[in-house]
Amino acid sequence: MTHLELAADHGHPVAQAPAADSPLAIRGLTVSYGEKPAVFSIDATIAPGSMTAIVGPNGAGKSTMLKAALGVVSPLSGTVTVFGQPLDIQRARVAYVPQRASIDWDFPARVIDVVLMGLSRELGLLGRVRDSHRKTALDCLSRVGMTDFAERQIGQLSGGQQQRVFLARALAQEADLYLLDEPFAGVDAATEKAIIDVLKSLKDQGRTVVAVHHDLSTVTEYFDHVFLINVRKVAEGPVETTFTSANLQDAYGGRLGTGQIEELALAAG
Ligand code: ADP
Ligand code: MG
Repeated sequence: MTHLELAADHGHPVAQAPAADSPLAIRGLTVSYGEKPAVFSIDATIAPGSMTAIVGPNGAGKSTMLKAALGVVSPLSGTVTVFGQPLDIQRARVAYVPQRASIDWDFPARVIDVVLMGLSRELGLLGRVRDSHRKTALDCLSRVGMTDFAERQIGQLSGGQQQRVFLARALAQEADLYLLDEPFAGVDAATEKAIIDVLKSLKDQGRTVVAVHHDLSTVTEYFDHVFLINVRKVAEGPVETTFTSANLQDAYGGRLGTGQIEELALAAG
């Protein structure tokens, strides 16, 4: 019996790339906060160097999938490997930008301090912030167009500015896998452009970007891979072959009009 037949035997999709090559591989992931699972039996194999959009309706389990990948919520069952190993071993290679709504912005911290948190591994628990660290943090702020705000309190910034700062913190981490939860939610057009440019430059450097994305009209323009989810996995793969009207219908059911779905799928080519 071949490896693939063996996998099929256990109910997994047959054409699954080996997890060892994937920046993020999820197998049989089920997470439940109560009686009903928030994600059920999810398999995902994120392609190295890809930009992947996680797409699905509200409450589909998109944030839960990312949190489980990060070990923030414990799964009922399933495994997550990061670059072929357990997360604990590879944690330093993973950066996370949480959904903005989930952060308490009232804590007193300057912008520069938030970005320096991205360097905590380098700084160590009691590490002193040196000029070189400060320079790195300022470089990261400049990459998101926020240099002028370095000394401001984070709570005084607009939503879009806060989002840029959190991206700068993730950049400071020099990770190989970037996980972002709705990075464009509630930001203005200029910030959206700034963020997508930074994400594309990460991809150009060979890093892998996975983002929960709620705007179906920009999936094709921004991403090369898509993962469609509605508690269960609907489909995953290159945008051209996966972001189809049939798959969107599957993920959203009646929540999108058919005209809307046709239009989006046409845009995907
Ligand atoms: P999405 O990000 O796709 O909108 P979530 O992963 O946030 O979806 O949530 C999936 C489901 O799990 C939803 O029904 C949500 O209400 C529920 N849920 C999410 N977080 C919690 C939590 N901490 N406690 C209880 N239920 C939760
Ligand atoms: Mg969410």
